[in-house]
Amino acid sequence: QVVTRFAPSPTGFLHIGGARTALFNWLYARHNGGKFLLRIEDTDRARSTQPAIDAILTSMRWLGLDWDEPEVYQFSRMARHAEVAHTMVAHGHAYRCFLTAQELDAMRAEAQAAKKPLRIRSPWRDRDSAEDGDKPFVVRLKAPLDGATTIEDRVQGSVTVQNAELDDLVLLRSDGTPTYMLAVVVDDHDMGVSHVIRGDDHLNNAFRQLPIIRAMHAIEGGWPDPIYAHIPLIHGSDGAKLSKRHGAVGVEFYRDELGILPEALENYLLRLGWGHGDDEVISREQAIEWFDLDGVGKSPSRFDLKKLENLNGIYIRDADDARLAELVTARLSFEPTDAQSAVLGRAMASLKPRAANLNELTRGTDFLFATRPLDIAPDAAPLLAGEAPALLAKLHAALDALDGWDTEALEAAVRSVAEDAGVKLGHVAQPLRAALTGRKTSPGIFDVLDLLGRNESLGRIEDQTT
Ligand code: GLU
Repeated sequence: QVVTRFAPSPTGFLHIGGARTALFNWLYARHNGGKFLLRIEDTDRARSTQPAIDAILTSMRWLGLDWDEPEVYQFSRMARHAEVAHTMVAHGHAYRCFLTAQELDAMRAEAQAAKKPLRIRSPWRDRDSAEDGDKPFVVRLKAPLDGATTIEDRVQGSVTVQNAELDDLVLLRSDGTPTYMLAVVVDDHDMGVSHVIRGDDHLNNAFRQLPIIRAMHAIEGGWPDPIYAHIPLIHGSDGAKLSKRHGAVGVEFYRDELGILPEALENYLLRLGWGHGDDEVISREQAIEWFDLDGVGKSPSRFDLKKLENLNGIYIRDADDARLAELVTARLSFEPTDAQSAVLGRAMASLKPRAANLNELTRGTDFLFATRPLDIAPDAAPLLAGEAPALLAKLHAALDALDGWDTEALEAAVRSVAEDAGVKLGHVAQPLRAALTGRKTSPGIFDVLDLLGRNESLGRIEDQTT
């Protein structure tokens, strides 16, 4: 069975690189009918925070990345991590190391003088650890000395590291707490994780984690090597590693500040580093059907906010009007009345084709709730000068004479005013738009008249006739 996991450290919000890692794990599990698990790696007590945990869970739910079992908190499993370390000591795959801080410093200085990286092979590796009685010790892995370790990575291909380059890493600190390397391995095993899909900044760690897995396999069996897939990191549009400067901020920022829909962000993240031909718009169902690790590229992908907004515009256009109205309402600076809510809901159909994000969609509703006399945007003011007031007076008269207020009648009336004045429809529509919305751009003018209704429309036109 395929079991994947996402294992964030809750030291900050869920940034988009993490969200993409979560998405790939989720899709791989769903594609294979497997399980997707969530593990909060909260062992760094100083840097892990509850708000960060909340932000991660909220963002995952918002993206619809549901996990199949209650999330696991790594810190709570400390005793189990220690148990594995002690098992390894008992079977000769790890050892107690009594090197003092001074001795370690000396080794470090020696390595530095020889311009060699420090690879710790402690003299305690082959000594009887009973020798040093009650002194403080760490537990170190007895790493293989020669030979090489090869990982057949599903994204990076075959990668080999000489074992001589690895050191006897610490499994348990002198206070008995597990290190990250040990905790990850034990948790992945106990959670039944079959596929480790994560950022390629963890590829080096895989070579330190595998010897632990293999030692435990030798001791008790049932610790198969996981299948690794180390996915390239996301870079900014300038090619540099993604940082805050590029918008490498939390998923919540895309939701709240940029007004991105979750399905648009998900579609965008999917296309970052994975492709299905030239398809840009890929539904969740298609993604589950098509996703495979073979389609994940080896080179870093570049984050492009423009592309995300393009996709977002497409998803906004396709979104249900009632849902959009609700999202817009949450962004209004006031509590709309029932009547205003009704207009807002009706307005979505004509507003959504021109919005790339929810902020634009919300701004598009401004004219609906503006009070008379309207503030006229500076670039719209010229449209109301010159002959415009006279033209608007004619429009006012023609519209006021209408019995009904449906778009057909409205269009016929506006057209007849244009014809009588011997000008094109646009010539009339522009000042009319400026008078009704205070802006140069808006939804179609007949939709605007319809949405504002008779009284408000006539009043706004009248305001501009003198
Ligand atoms: N907690 C690690 C991180 O947030 C991920 C560990 C893993 O995926 O193996 O970078």
